[in-house]
Amino acid sequence: MIGADPHIVIVGAGQAGLQAAETLRSEAFEGRITLLGAEPHPPYQRPPLSKAWLTDHLDPEQLTLRDLSVLERKQIDLCTGTSVSAIDVKSQSVLLHDGRALTYSGLVLATGATPRQLPQAQGAGDLVCTLRSRADADVIARRLRNCAQGELPLVVVGGGFIGLEVAASARKLGIAVTILEAASRLLERVLSQDLSDWYARLHADRGTTLIFDARIAEIRKTSDHAAEVRLADGTCIVAGLVVVGIGVTPNDELARNAGIACETGIVVDACGRTSVPNIVAAGDCTVRRLSDGSMLRLESVQNAVEQGRSAASALLGAEKPSLGAPWFWSDQYEMKLQIAGLSRGADTHVLRGDMESHSFSIFHFSESCLVAVDSINAARDHMIARDLIGRRISPTAQQAGDTTFNLAKLRTVLA
Ligand SMILES: Cc1cc2nc3c(=O)[nH]c(=O)nc-3n(C[C@H](O)[C@H](O)[C@H](O)COP(=O)(O)OP(=O)(O)OC[C@H]3O[C@@H](n4cnc5c(N)ncnc54)[C@H](O)[C@@H]3O)c2cc1C
Repeated sequence: MIGADPHIVIVGAGQAGLQAAETLRSEAFEGRITLLGAEPHPPYQRPPLSKAWLTDHLDPEQLTLRDLSVLERKQIDLCTGTSVSAIDVKSQSVLLHDGRALTYSGLVLATGATPRQLPQAQGAGDLVCTLRSRADADVIARRLRNCAQGELPLVVVGGGFIGLEVAASARKLGIAVTILEAASRLLERVLSQDLSDWYARLHADRGTTLIFDARIAEIRKTSDHAAEVRLADGTCIVAGLVVVGIGVTPNDELARNAGIACETGIVVDACGRTSVPNIVAAGDCTVRRLSDGSMLRLESVQNAVEQGRSAASALLGAEKPSLGAPWFWSDQYEMKLQIAGLSRGADTHVLRGDMESHSFSIFHFSESCLVAVDSINAARDHMIARDLIGRRISPTAQQAGDTTFNLAKLRTVLA
């Protein structure tokens, strides 16, 4: 598939791009690998950016995914600060921002996603931030310090994972926080009502003000250090910083301009193959077409790693789709949420444990089949559930809700 003098170019040096490069080597690919990243840093992990990076003074090395010496040893040519501006599918080449062109025999697109901006915030300048990169997180960390010193509040727009994690980090720093959520509950697209309500209580108990059904009319800067957030109902909130976490748009324009099929993201199959031969894609920039024709978009470390692996294998001609259950985690205060599987379409929700104890799981069933489990501080439930979902083994709803029933037993009984 790759031809003589093979050269695989990877666009995007994030979680998925790095994984693709390393998989090529572990699958014994001996040709050239070039990993191109627009950011100035070597591949790093994003999850700490909304968590410990804002509160705990981590060293940059603690974010780094791979030591440069490891990449050198694996003969992966990393080019940081290098952005690809176009793909020419016919000549099999990519055009770099500085005018240079690189030919490829195989191409991996791992360009990630860009946070959505809030149109009403145009008049607020640098007091309104989104969070995706280390550079964004550094600005937010600096501004949070100003908020703490000047006793200015933080306003978070969007009660999704990133917004809630930033809110928890700011509360740890002693900053007053208001969360503005357009829906009637937190994390509406991903969590059941019970867990949404539990999260709302958690944040409220820790001193955060939550406003639901919030409609933002305007955010404007009133001084060098303060902005005013005005809601449609006339409420005005003063903020030293506004962090907007209202979702992301997949970075698919390179692919779109090159004629590669895109919907909301680059369309890939279970192996990461795009509509163009020798071009695969992985991670947050993709949307996967499932066997029933529906589309699935995941934004998680696990998805980036598994798609990076599958996509690299596909370029080498091997079919290695990711078969396990999707999983995700979020840390807010001392609570670790772990999600295994996909709860969309679930018809039955069963609580295992006690929500007040802050260690419990919610099992989601569709037509009596276990499809997802959300666990709070219940790592064992999560690990077992992931395994059961991946192997399509289902407890009954009654077994799931009975904490004296050993779920792990099902793996041996039914395997
Ligand atoms: C603050 C934050 C917290 C998160 N927390 C969690 C968590 O707790 N758990 C979890 O599972 N997931 C979490 N995620 C999500 C997870 O980090 C992402 O799903 C994952 O990083 C996606 O990897 P990726 O490689 O697809 O994209 P990215 O990591 O975004 O990498 C894409 C890279 O491509 C580069 N790029 C884009 N276009 C070009 C171009 N034209 N030329 C060259 N380079 C280009 C970008 O600059 C970027 O560096 C979090 C994300 C953020 C932002």
